[in-house]
Amino acid sequence: MAVLLSEREKQIFEEAKAYALEYIAPYAAQWEVDGVLDKDAVRNIADHGYFGVGCPKALGGREYNYLETALTYEGLAHGDGGFAFFVQLHNNITWDMVEFYDTSDEVRALLPDMVAGRKLTAYALTEEDAGSDPAMSKSYARLCEDGYHVFGEKTWISNCMDADYFTVIVHNETEGGMVILLMERGTKGFEICENRRRLGGNAMTCGTIRFDDAVVPISRCMSKNGLKQALSDINVARIFVPAIGIGMAQHALDITMKRLAVRETFGQPVIKNQAIQFKLAELSAKLEAARWLVYHVASQMDAGENIPVPAAMAKLLGPNTVWEVVTECAQLFGAAGFAYNSEISRCVNMARTMKIMDGSTEVQQIVIGRALAKTALKSV
Ligand SMILES: Cc1cc2nc3c(=O)[nH]c(=O)nc-3n(C[C@H](O)[C@H](O)[C@H](O)COP(=O)(O)OP(=O)(O)OC[C@H]3O[C@@H](n4cnc5c(N)ncnc54)[C@H](O)[C@@H]3O)c2cc1C
Repeated sequence: MAVLLSEREKQIFEEAKAYALEYIAPYAAQWEVDGVLDKDAVRNIADHGYFGVGCPKALGGREYNYLETALTYEGLAHGDGGFAFFVQLHNNITWDMVEFYDTSDEVRALLPDMVAGRKLTAYALTEEDAGSDPAMSKSYARLCEDGYHVFGEKTWISNCMDADYFTVIVHNETEGGMVILLMERGTKGFEICENRRRLGGNAMTCGTIRFDDAVVPISRCMSKNGLKQALSDINVARIFVPAIGIGMAQHALDITMKRLAVRETFGQPVIKNQAIQFKLAELSAKLEAARWLVYHVASQMDAGENIPVPAAMAKLLGPNTVWEVVTECAQLFGAAGFAYNSEISRCVNMARTMKIMDGSTEVQQIVIGRALAKTALKSV
């Protein structure tokens, strides 16, 4: 069995990368300063068909599989990791609604606008005291005749200032377990509080939302098995986040090598030093290994395999490798690698968040470690 990308898969990556270099990269520094989502950029990427890439063509999507989708995000991240993350986040939520949630006809009627990026989404699970362990969250919904009455607060919610619809995961006070509800912007009792400035990734907003008796119609309950469903939703992000990181780190490596080829010290380009070449060799090889792990796990998902542990491996190895690559690249840039809002420093800051978002590095170690221990204990 050959493990190779097909010509079509390579083309998907190349097209996304070319788009990113033309339409994302030139604006990324300004987006970071502005700290708001650029609506023109959203319209442009929508017009180029990068929203809803995994969704059925009948809904306006491209019907990409997981591998093709991962390649798309890897390509887009050559422009800006934060903006690629925003596209991935919205696409995942839309895809969940198409594929996995119990969506009513009323919700299905909303999907074409979401697939086309005319309506944007956010995913609200984390709370101030419940990140790695979402079962500890305190927000809850009470089922009444007119719908679910929601109370509580969620924080670190990406795209919160711009989303039209929020998938909100809260305890079900009436029926037990957790529910996933589709909360609409403008609902009475639903407040979008603030955009939290972060070290990086500010092309997309991220902040806190609050519910004080906000009512969601019963037709907008999308899962009564909310915690299990939420954890399985996150598995998808666990291959796409490393895919974004790898695209971003490859871009960092590309621009570092270009700089080292022109930057001269002691009478020659820095890249002519074997010590530097050895470092670049290590980084390139590690990045290639992390990249192929992502491709492999995406292919496993396309084959319908059970992937929580492989996805955790991709999310563990990917961001760790990305972090190593971009911080070494920053070192190789010298003082310029420490400049505020330079391409390299944006990569470093975004790489930090990738070790936290969609389950921290330690959470991936827990998932993998538990599975290994279970197998070992069974074998004796
Ligand atoms: C930029 C950004 C965007 C985000 N976007 C979203 C979003 O859109 N929606 C959303 O719901 N959430 C979002 N999050 C939240 C993210 O999912 C959580 O931050 C993450 O799950 C970690 O939770 P925490 O920050 O509460 O850390 P904690 O759970 O408090 O953990 C603190 C530290 O302890 C470690 N740790 C925890 N438990 C263990 C253990 N048992 N063993 C060993 N180590 C442990 C963690 O790995 C971490 O290093 C976002 C976060 C960031 C940074």
